[in-house]
Amino acid sequence: MTGAVLLGLLSPPALTAQQKTAAPAAVPVSAPLANIRYEITFDSLTAQARTLQVAMSFDVQGPGPVLLSFPAWTPGAYELSFFARWVSNFAPSTADKPLAWDKLDYDTYRVNPAGAKSVTVRFNYLADTLDNAMAWAKPDFVLFNGTNLLPYPEGRGTNFPATVVIKTEPSWLVATGMQAVPQQSHTYRENNYHDLVDKPFFVGRMDLDSTQVAGLWTRLATYPAGALTGQARSEAQDEIGKMIPAEAAVFGETPWRNYTVMMIFDSSYGGGSALEHTNSHVGIYNPGFIGNPILASITAHEIFHAWNVKRLRPADMVPYRYDRSEPTVWLWVSEGITDYYADLAILRGGIITDQQFLTATGEKILKVADAPPTALEDASLSTWIHPTDGSEYLYYPKGSLAGFALDILIRDASDNRHSLDDVMRELYRTTYKAGRGFTAADWWGAVSRAAGGRSFADFSAKYVDGREPYPWGQLLPLAGLRIATDTVREARLGISASQDSSGAVVIRQVLPGGAAEEAGVKPGDVLLAIGDIAITDPEFGSKFRDRYGKDEGKPLPLQVRRNGQAMTLNGTVRLAARTESRLAIDSAASPKAVRVREGIFKGAVGE
Ligand SMILES: [Zn+2]
Repeated sequence: MTGAVLLGLLSPPALTAQQKTAAPAAVPVSAPLANIRYEITFDSLTAQARTLQVAMSFDVQGPGPVLLSFPAWTPGAYELSFFARWVSNFAPSTADKPLAWDKLDYDTYRVNPAGAKSVTVRFNYLADTLDNAMAWAKPDFVLFNGTNLLPYPEGRGTNFPATVVIKTEPSWLVATGMQAVPQQSHTYRENNYHDLVDKPFFVGRMDLDSTQVAGLWTRLATYPAGALTGQARSEAQDEIGKMIPAEAAVFGETPWRNYTVMMIFDSSYGGGSALEHTNSHVGIYNPGFIGNPILASITAHEIFHAWNVKRLRPADMVPYRYDRSEPTVWLWVSEGITDYYADLAILRGGIITDQQFLTATGEKILKVADAPPTALEDASLSTWIHPTDGSEYLYYPKGSLAGFALDILIRDASDNRHSLDDVMRELYRTTYKAGRGFTAADWWGAVSRAAGGRSFADFSAKYVDGREPYPWGQLLPLAGLRIATDTVREARLGISASQDSSGAVVIRQVLPGGAAEEAGVKPGDVLLAIGDIAITDPEFGSKFRDRYGKDEGKPLPLQVRRNGQAMTLNGTVRLAARTESRLAIDSAASPKAVRVREGIFKGAVGE
């Protein structure tokens, strides 16, 4: 249900002292349930209707109606989805006799057990959305999350065990991070609701295998079968084997019994996007991502989340609640600093070079400089409403750079004896391990301690709560780095564009006098192709500049979709001068600054 409780009086009387301290107004509470079991059927028949058949059975252990609620969101995907939207044919019964039901609110079902001890609730769940927080079926495969289709008894807390049984074709496979019950086919069990809804499933035909990383099993499940095989698959596994130890080194432990990397490759998906869990993650990618370092970077990001956000988490999101949003000002740490460590993990693991790390970091600096000045705290809070001003996901690159800046400042203040790693490790131990979330005092206290007691109040006020640009001119020399600038002439369309949630590249702005304006491109158009370069390729921008950089004045057809209609606009290749800034090694750096830089690159502290 939603979190609102109606206190509905037009002019409420003043509260007496006793009322002020009394328990809050009663929230709906379900009859107590036990022996909860969810049986989920997905086979070649139900696949035709893109439907999962769910049978939830339980014992009713007290009086009153049974209230079953569907989550409003999937933790990690910071948006309200209300998964009850995809439920149909809701039918509670006892001993095959139908039971009466209605809705208490839009995502809570109220069932009258009429004295029955044992109840089964059947419903269908439509799996038609290609989104890692949702459910998506193909004729031979389904992805689903527990948040989608495992309702919970309202008002009874999350501390209940439950069993999940998957019924599928004998030859189809099941991949999930959920704990398997030994000797029982496709049967899984978790001790509480948080774990139950944090272990997404792949069911169907797929490639599935395991490797050992640091003595622990790491599974790789990919759909469709055949999409990631041979050399590309061994490379992906090799990279996973390199990034995990680099990440575990930050925290001093690998926190799972096993880890499952789950990947879907689908050409209808324009980009790449993934969602983290405590011992797995689900990524959805355009097949063009295979072999691209972006895939390794996203994978490293999601795996780092197993520590940072799934375990070490802002207090605002502890515990997760599923009936409403949980805004926090700390997504710049949970997401942005995760992104910083993803880059570090693939650098320290030897997957990318120092130069590739500098290029990626330099691109973040430029991206943030081009974005509207936005406070990290505000960007973190606002993600739930998907702002349209260009600040929507700014807490990723800008938060990543905050991590980079803090790492430099801590290493500089301690002559590379301490680093941001110390902050992450301390908070992991003192907050997550102590069963709570971290607060501002925890975060800034740990940062200050790592930097030998230095205050970061000014840093926080200017660059986290405030909108001031990062002082790279002062920060970079401390790490033996500098911004180098070159002037280049290159093919340019004169647009700004961003990906929407489906991965489509949508034109946000058409600059006056540019090639796109000349061709008649309009804001809101979905960009499909520039000349012969399809926009499904994540590298389309650099490919366009390489392909047309010497073709000034030549025809350039632009394919767009406008109001659902595909159309081709006739453009011309235009070149424009651009000052290119990049992050570079400062060859004149002091020995101390070199120590700081090498410390960042290698994950090392000390001389
Ligand atoms: Zn993330």
